[in-house]
Amino acid sequence: MSNYPFSFDPKEPFVQQVSDWVSDVFYDKLPEFGFEVRDEQIYMAYQLERAYRDKQTIFAEAGVGTGKTLVYLLYAINYARYTRKPAIIACADESLIEQLVKPEGDIAKLANYLDFTIDARLGKSPDQYICLNKLDDARASMDEDAMLYDEMYRSLPKFVHSPETMQAFHSYGDRKDYPDLHDEQWEKIGWDVFQDCLVCSQRHRCGQTLSREHYRKSTDIIICSHDFYMEHIWTYEARKREGQLPLLPEHSSVVFDEGHLLETAAQKALTYKLNHAVFESIITRLLEGEVRESLAVAVEESIVQSENLFALLDVHSSPVPGSDRREIAWNDELLREVNRFCDMIASIEEELVFESGLYTLDEYQLKIVEEHLEMIQLALGLFKKSNQLISWVTEDKDALTLVIMPKWVKEILTKQLFSSKMPIVFSSATLSVQGNFDYMSESLGVEQALSFSVESPYDYENQMKIQYAPLSSEQHMEKKLTATLEMLQQTEGRALLLFRSKEELAEFKQGANRIPQFANYQFLYEGTGEISSLIAEFQQNEISCLCAVTLWEGLDIPGPSLSQVIMWSLPFPSNDPVFAARRKDAVNPFEDVDMPYMLLRLKQGIGRLIRKQDDKGTITIFDEKLQDPTIKEKVLQIVPAGVTVEQLDR
Ligand code: SF4
Repeated sequence: MSNYPFSFDPKEPFVQQVSDWVSDVFYDKLPEFGFEVRDEQIYMAYQLERAYRDKQTIFAEAGVGTGKTLVYLLYAINYARYTRKPAIIACADESLIEQLVKPEGDIAKLANYLDFTIDARLGKSPDQYICLNKLDDARASMDEDAMLYDEMYRSLPKFVHSPETMQAFHSYGDRKDYPDLHDEQWEKIGWDVFQDCLVCSQRHRCGQTLSREHYRKSTDIIICSHDFYMEHIWTYEARKREGQLPLLPEHSSVVFDEGHLLETAAQKALTYKLNHAVFESIITRLLEGEVRESLAVAVEESIVQSENLFALLDVHSSPVPGSDRREIAWNDELLREVNRFCDMIASIEEELVFESGLYTLDEYQLKIVEEHLEMIQLALGLFKKSNQLISWVTEDKDALTLVIMPKWVKEILTKQLFSSKMPIVFSSATLSVQGNFDYMSESLGVEQALSFSVESPYDYENQMKIQYAPLSSEQHMEKKLTATLEMLQQTEGRALLLFRSKEELAEFKQGANRIPQFANYQFLYEGTGEISSLIAEFQQNEISCLCAVTLWEGLDIPGPSLSQVIMWSLPFPSNDPVFAARRKDAVNPFEDVDMPYMLLRLKQGIGRLIRKQDDKGTITIFDEKLQDPTIKEKVLQIVPAGVTVEQLDR
């Protein structure tokens, strides 16, 4: 039987044959099941044909409802079969991964209507899995949830408890299997960056490592988050040196869904977190063998230096209100100590070159420690050109962690991603600035790319209404709550409430809990359970209201469950070190950094409301900044043409 959903002629160019079949799908096959033929889809298919044929990068800007996902899936899957390497579909975050594979999602549609079996597997980030070591600690702790963690442990597969049992291992411990755990409960048992899986004695029966074996074997597509894909890129060489498999297998093409968010994910993945206790536990592994005295002394000195450095960071950092971060006041003394620490690590690395020739250290352990030291050196090396990094400290369980993030990632992306000869698709409704893609190309380091834009086919003028009220949370909290309640009464719930920050969401929750009428509706708050389970509940339970900070993008809920979107304030960036650094570099920080970010996010937020031809609804925006004529004008410019915009009478 043919590997392809069409009869393949080896004498003809493959991508051309895919395109012919894709045309059949959109002109003939899907209309049989009630799908409309859309010119936008056919146009998109021709554009993607060029990218796949010439193995190029393409910016595919397509408005809501253009069916862009179906188009890129058809190319990605066929190309994967042709090259015998899966395609990677990278979504903006973990919650959006699940949306692609939900029963009414685009993959299921293709499989049903085209009688097409698709091998789609999820490559979730490690933090979506239980860490057995942390679970052990949580069970043994005096934590109020220790009993709950103990029950979770007992429900794990048999092979976790009795490793000698001869049975097939399989992945388990996915956060999705524990929908009721809130974020704080999950943080106590989920993987985090300080877990050293490479030397962990439980790794062979850990659900997190076992999940990799499953998704690696996909023949069609692997769906992961942008963060995970970037993690794959940055760790690719190091993992190979350590004798590990890269996080993702060799692949034939990549699609970045909501591709406008890739730069942030790249920065996040390149972030390094240094913590004294973790450093000490890594470096003292070198003392487990019979090492020369000079190395032992160097190790001891580096531990003392690390301790000094963190004590100084404690003195020279101050809390940032409304966050768990502390801002560092960099001065000559601090920079001198960072450089001293860096030099000490360099001398340990030199010592290790000698030591490895003596074979007194376990070779595997040595490799792992060397990799850690190299990562620390790379991160601390950024301090030599301090205008190229963003840094802060966080405090957790009385210990400080130094967080180091590069300011620009484009050079690395050009070298490690865009230089590969493979089709790379950026898909989003917001990639260009009025049809110009230079900003995206420039910030990501894309030297050459194809591009196109297609508008949404929806009749926004008749499907959507926008209203706004220039109210602030500080002075007009009660008015905002009353207006929200009235709006919820109109649609009997069925609302998505979007917040700028976790703090804003918490304030709303407190306010809503004070007013008895809010109890008439079921509120689902982000952070109180696993996010894709909350989304599924919102979709199924029509009269519920979903309150979220991270769902301005990507959420796809067609139908009456989402009949209105209430934006608790304009989505200006919060008080975040990344934006603080960008503002410092900008000539006009507000116009160049805050405003474009807010407008892009707002446009995405507006896009959550109308998800199909017969959807109708209202968007409400609260923010006193709408009294500013410049801001108001910019906001009005991104409203879809013809939509009525009214000021609420408050
Ligand atoms: S392999 Fe990693 S995630 Fe699994 S138990 Fe060990 S440290 Fe935790």
